Amino acid sequence: MADLPRTVLISGCSSGIGLELAVQLARDSRQRYQVVATMRDLGKKGTLEAAAGEALGQTLTVAQLDVCSDESVAQCLSCIQGGEVDVLVNNAGVGLVGPLEGLSLATMQKVFDTNFFGAVRLVRAVLPGMKRRRQGHIVVVSSVMGLQGVVFNDVYAASKFALEGFFESLAIQLLQFNIFISLVEPGPVGTAFEEKLLEQVSTAQFPGADPDTLRYFRDLYLPASRELFRCLGQSPQDVAQVIVKVIGSTRPPLRRQTNARYCALTALKAVDPSGRLYVRSAHRLLFRWPRLLGQGLRCLACDCFPTRVRPGPAFPGKPRLEALEEEAEGKTDHTSLQGRSSRAGLFAADPGFQAGDGRRNLSGSRSCSGRAADFPALRRPHSCGRGRYRLGAWPEASWRPLVAKRETELDHDRLEGAARVQELGSLA
Ligand code: NAD
Repeated sequence: MADLPRTVLISGCSSGIGLELAVQLARDSRQRYQVVATMRDLGKKGTLEAAAGEALGQTLTVAQLDVCSDESVAQCLSCIQGGEVDVLVNNAGVGLVGPLEGLSLATMQKVFDTNFFGAVRLVRAVLPGMKRRRQGHIVVVSSVMGLQGVVFNDVYAASKFALEGFFESLAIQLLQFNIFISLVEPGPVGTAFEEKLLEQVSTAQFPGADPDTLRYFRDLYLPASRELFRCLGQSPQDVAQVIVKVIGSTRPPLRRQTNARYCALTALKAVDPSGRLYVRSAHRLLFRWPRLLGQGLRCLACDCFPTRVRPGPAFPGKPRLEALEEEAEGKTDHTSLQGRSSRAGLFAADPGFQAGDGRRNLSGSRSCSGRAADFPALRRPHSCGRGRYRLGAWPEASWRPLVAKRETELDHDRLEGAARVQELGSLA
């Protein structure tokens, strides 16, 4: 007998990732999901309904939900048939950028109320039912800014860090109830999110911010941020696809970054636990060498990037591909791999990766002696056409089909990217 469809409740579906995710799940070819797509303002449901098409009223219903209101959460859950949520997706979120001195505490609290307490409110509401049934999955749309701080995003990043700490802690307890937690960490995504932020920033005065800080914000940060979105931005469809896979897996990961190209930047933190490498590289690239930052971003965005990859062992005594395959197929224990696969473990356990040594690439060979002339990607930024510039001698044909099949590309890119950016950092 076919399994009953799982009820998926998603917050913040009037636009962006939430909207795309609701539609993709509702259109699942195997009809595995009943989607309750929620939004604060039902007056904005037109776009979602149009995108859902025939799924509307069949596998997708729209409901009102303000994650900042206890009453709204209770009202929404009371309308769900059977009252049970199998998968909760905490997607609703707001951004905030700008010099700290120019932001009011009330504005900062609003960000936490939506991004952090909004998710907590929903989890508290669905958890008793999930625990009773001994099953459930809670997905949280976090951010790469939940892994590392980004200049002038202090409060937004703090709200995502809060989510990461909260849900990682909860994951341990909930495993005992067969309930999984997944933190999905997108990099920049081309949604209304960025537009809203830029709109805010263009009209904001930031009273209290000193002229130097304001100048850094407007003249350095904003152009760099636009370049980052332009070079590395993903579509909401792509992010939704990753979340669909996470929801569909039998042993969901605790963390999943969605953007292979951005992983190079998060890796800067993972490879140096002291934090110096990331903070110093980010500082130098933004404040001293902004043009180099632009070139670096274009290099990461280059089409040949995923081909400049050389597989190597991830865990001692085990080839990386094999280890990741096991994880993807759920053969490895969920708890033991959650920490290892997510961040530092992959790098720390990879003998080919030399943390803190900007002169070595992944294969351990010298690739950059610290001078720009020795860094081919900088000599020919963005013109390193597919196959012309390759770090490894390993022929692509030997590993590409395996990578594509097993979806481990992300990991290779992360490792490769870490080496690239580390080189940039050492130059700066
Ligand atoms: P978006 O602005 O299109 O979507 C956010 C949604 O949350 C909107 O529909 C908004 O109406 C809703 N929302 C805000 N406050 C709410 C509340 N109190 N109650 C219910 N809904 C509320 O932007 P998006 O990019 O789709 O953002 C979705 C999530 O992805 C957010 O959590 C965001 O932090 C995260 N994220 C976005 C990016 C990016 O670059 N766009 C990057 C990383 C993470």
